[in-house]
Amino acid sequence: MIRERINNAARSVGRNPESIRLVAVSKYQPEALIRQAIDAGQTVFGENTVQEALSRQALLQEPHTEWHFIGHVQTNKAKYIPGNFAWLHTLDSIKLARKLAARAEAVETDLNVLLQVNVSNDPDKFGLLPEAVFPFVDEFLEANLLGLSLRGLMTIGRRTSADAERFADFSSLRELGEHCVARFGESYFGELSMGMSDDFEAAIRAGSTMVRVGSAIFGPRPEKTR
Ligand SMILES: *Cc1c(COP(=O)(O)O)cnc(C)c1O
Repeated sequence: MIRERINNAARSVGRNPESIRLVAVSKYQPEALIRQAIDAGQTVFGENTVQEALSRQALLQEPHTEWHFIGHVQTNKAKYIPGNFAWLHTLDSIKLARKLAARAEAVETDLNVLLQVNVSNDPDKFGLLPEAVFPFVDEFLEANLLGLSLRGLMTIGRRTSADAERFADFSSLRELGEHCVARFGESYFGELSMGMSDDFEAAIRAGSTMVRVGSAIFGPRPEKTR
């Protein structure tokens, strides 16, 4: 059903549905449900805490799956990301980038990274403010961090506000992405990770290439957590 909704949202604005990755956010969900999703053909999954992800080694190593880390990473946990995850959606500091790159090189892997941007300037959210993105990328590229591949931008939409406001946030991320492409090149900024269960269709209309959908696939997350 979610794929169908993704396809419809994409077609409604003349986009190819295949240009949109569905990241099934499996955080806090029981392993049995994740295995059901794998059996049903889902390959891309997202987790947001290092501790929980590490308790799922068998799933992380499951053939034909691709794991994305979508939570905030403290620099002291950076070492757990390369090797366990193919993508990180939440890069927001050069210090973190250096730690990730060192680990990626050590384990001889390549980590795709997205810059998290706080487009709505929300004090409760992580991420770079839009005006900090260009200077960040200049510094990131100058550091020549082998092991990290910069691939695009990520944002979390305002949860409580009206659809039109979310669409506006998503559109500002897309515009920022376009400015980044113009300045730094398409190879670094082809991806936009935006849209969750409540707002993925608006995000797709605004240009999302990765939607991070949890509860709409797996049902409400178990109580104990959040
Ligand atoms: C939990 C989470 C999601 C998925 O949320 P749903 O509302 O369950 O779809 C997406 N992105 C991030 C960063 C998350 O932490």
